[in-house]
Amino acid sequence: MREFKCQSCGAGIHYEPGTDQLKCPFCGKENPIPKGEAGVEEQNLEEELARVGEEGVVGEVLVVPCEACGAKTTFPPNVTADKCAFCGSPLVTGKSLSQKKVQPHGILPFLVDSQKANQSFARWIGSRWFAPNDLKRHSKNPSNLKGVYTPYWTFDSQTDSPYTGERGDDYWTTEAVSVVRNGRQCIENRRVKHTRWTPTSGRVEHFFDDVLVPASNNLPRKYMEALEPWDLSQVVPYEESYLSGFRVESYSLPLPEGRGLAREKMAQEIRRLVERDIGGDHQRVFQIDTSYSQETFKHLLMPIWIDSYRYGEKVYRFLVNARTGEVQGERPWSVVKIVFAVLVAVAVLVLLLTVVGGN
Ligand SMILES: [Zn+2]
Ligand SMILES: [Zn+2]
Repeated sequence: MREFKCQSCGAGIHYEPGTDQLKCPFCGKENPIPKGEAGVEEQNLEEELARVGEEGVVGEVLVVPCEACGAKTTFPPNVTADKCAFCGSPLVTGKSLSQKKVQPHGILPFLVDSQKANQSFARWIGSRWFAPNDLKRHSKNPSNLKGVYTPYWTFDSQTDSPYTGERGDDYWTTEAVSVVRNGRQCIENRRVKHTRWTPTSGRVEHFFDDVLVPASNNLPRKYMEALEPWDLSQVVPYEESYLSGFRVESYSLPLPEGRGLAREKMAQEIRRLVERDIGGDHQRVFQIDTSYSQETFKHLLMPIWIDSYRYGEKVYRFLVNARTGEVQGERPWSVVKIVFAVLVAVAVLVLLLTVVGGN
């Protein structure tokens, strides 16, 4: 990762969350980040997939692999030893290796700074009963929180889906049934519901815009999804200045697999569209044959604050969406505190029973 220098005094400078500059902590000079005229361009997916494996199309990045969890991260140039953001294991940043990767096209710069993220963590853990005390202590140390740009793919596609199925329409009939009333046999009319099924076929066309797929396998997918939505309208063209002072996780989900997951997401939506197109009261779908065209993609980086902590044998993680401040996390339970609470409850119960029994 490139090192950025203050234009005025030459000191190393970092991106300041929520701004569009690198502010010098020494002389106070504000070094503006150059702004491109163009927006983030969509990339042709077929061309890129055809190129995968070719030399020279992708960029070269130096990543530090974590021996414990396998996460691959790029570090600011001045950092020599640190903890892995994903599992808390110690890392030697000197042991980097070179990898060929598709370069990011767009980035959402950090908006929430480390201080605000830390306050959210302290609030979150403080409001959790039975959280271990050492975790509460851990949350008070700001250096445990790591700012990481995590990788995403987004996909656009025009889809055309011919389908076959059946449409079910409900109708009612009146039927005479024999019932016993007050011991006497009599005939009553009852309304009965039926469904008439008719074969149907048709086609739905739909354009998908920015279907988002996390390209990281280092964080649990359910938490990544819970951190959404991202304000994709605010994505700016990739510019290395935004990375300074932060780590960048390199993607572990390759582009073809990313497309596979995006198509699964699209297929769910297409099925909903087909059912709406069939109409009626019930729908049966037999076959959908989707063809995809005008497929494009983008590789984006999204800002997340991560704190990984070990409790017992397990790794727990606390995540903050550094755009919205949305908090997600796993928390360990303190066995000591729970046992203590149960004992107190039992003691209270025994006391109450004694008092009631004494009267
Ligand atoms: Zn300076
Ligand atoms: Zn790790």
